[in-house]
Amino acid sequence: ALTPIVDNPRLTVIGTGYLGATHAICMAVLGYDVLGVDVDQKKIDDLSNGIVPFYEPGLPEKLREALDSGRLHFTTDFDHAAEFGDVHFVCVGTPQAPGSQAADLRFVESAFSELARRIDRKALIVGKSTVPIGTAARLTALVQQISPIGAELELAWNPEFLREGFAVEDTLHPDRLVFGVASEWAKRQLSAAFRPILAVDTPLVISDLATSELVKVAANSFLATKISFINAMAEVCESTGADVNLLASALALDDRIGGRFLKPGLGFGGGCLPKDIRAFAHRAEELGVGHAVAFLHEVDDINNRRRLRTVDLIREMAGGDLNGKRVAAFGAAFKPNSDDVRDAPALDVARMLYLEGAIVTVYDPEANENAHRVYPDLNFADSMVAAAIDADVVALLTEWQEFKDVDPDDLGRIVRHRRIVDGRHALDADAYVSNGWEYRALGRPAQA
Ligand code: NAD
Repeated sequence: ALTPIVDNPRLTVIGTGYLGATHAICMAVLGYDVLGVDVDQKKIDDLSNGIVPFYEPGLPEKLREALDSGRLHFTTDFDHAAEFGDVHFVCVGTPQAPGSQAADLRFVESAFSELARRIDRKALIVGKSTVPIGTAARLTALVQQISPIGAELELAWNPEFLREGFAVEDTLHPDRLVFGVASEWAKRQLSAAFRPILAVDTPLVISDLATSELVKVAANSFLATKISFINAMAEVCESTGADVNLLASALALDDRIGGRFLKPGLGFGGGCLPKDIRAFAHRAEELGVGHAVAFLHEVDDINNRRRLRTVDLIREMAGGDLNGKRVAAFGAAFKPNSDDVRDAPALDVARMLYLEGAIVTVYDPEANENAHRVYPDLNFADSMVAAAIDADVVALLTEWQEFKDVDPDDLGRIVRHRRIVDGRHALDADAYVSNGWEYRALGRPAQA
């Protein structure tokens, strides 16, 4: 006979960063009793006090709603977590390991073993973190080894596809759910943990554990490849006088191709895409199928070359030498509507300019603080205007709406020279040129 599932499972969420905090808050909003767990006391204190420790539109309001409902609590206490949860979601970080292309699985291993050592009843531990293929199988063995006698722990994987900047929407209304499970019980228990989302006919893919791990890294590899594809075309454009912006528009009109993720520019970054494709390539090599995804190295290289090329454009505009030149860097976050600066192309460009002797002043509407923590040597300004004062070159590096909205003539009155590099193809080039700006963008002929 099947072990009965818990109909309204109590949920824990281990790791309350970008993913875990969002998941915990949204599950409480959906009506579950949720306990968020982190090793970072400050994060737990903030969340308990209604403060989301990062920028995510709409999330503070949902946190308030969840706390007011009495269904959401936070702790650093694993004993409490082990006792509380019927379903435990593990959302800890899996960054790139220092000095390697591989994923660092220390946090995942620690979270699973902290739980497994303590749980003494039937429960489900669900990995949501992005991990190399085979991790779930390895963790299953680990959990079995250390779990107390009588505890019936099962493991499942439920990869997460949320986008920072749209995290609430993506969590409450995902394109699909993927359940990697090893038993019928796990499938039914996980379904009970997502009942409100499944009730609105959200597509559900049920698979083995390995496939569920692979879905996530394959999806990110595809997206990264699409971005690098159009950026490779930008390189070709640059050597032929063609215009990658027009090329991308023409390609996008073919609905077999589509326009999403076909935007040329400074390329991808953040806490997911770069490290995920590297970890995937690394894992494939371990598995003896490195050749199958060898193109991911090329995808990574194309992406990194865009950063170098952006620095080239800025240097060219500055007259061939950056030393002592003032550059206004618009943006630091890896994309707009986020304060995340992990592997951020914008910040990488700012760093390279600085290393060439430029006087770089960075302004990001939300990410200044995080960026300053990573690169304390850069100058930071509190506004776009303050960053642009007397600039020799303006570089748009993250396409925040604020930067798109600025009037080229107003901006021109602040800078020393009307020269702009549009690293994101985000600006109206004609408007800049007609206001006396020299305008450059990757993959387009110079316009002045
Ligand atoms: P993050 O760094 O923001 O959060 C990780 C959290 O885990 C931190 O708060 C950290 O203190 C905590 N932590 C570390 N070890 C712990 C432990 N042993 N017990 C409890 N807490 C612990 O990372 P993130 O961006 O939320 O990413 C988490 C995972 O989700 C990664 O695998 C990532 O690839 C994946 N993911 C992230 C996103 C995203 O948009 N950020 C989207 C999909 C998947």
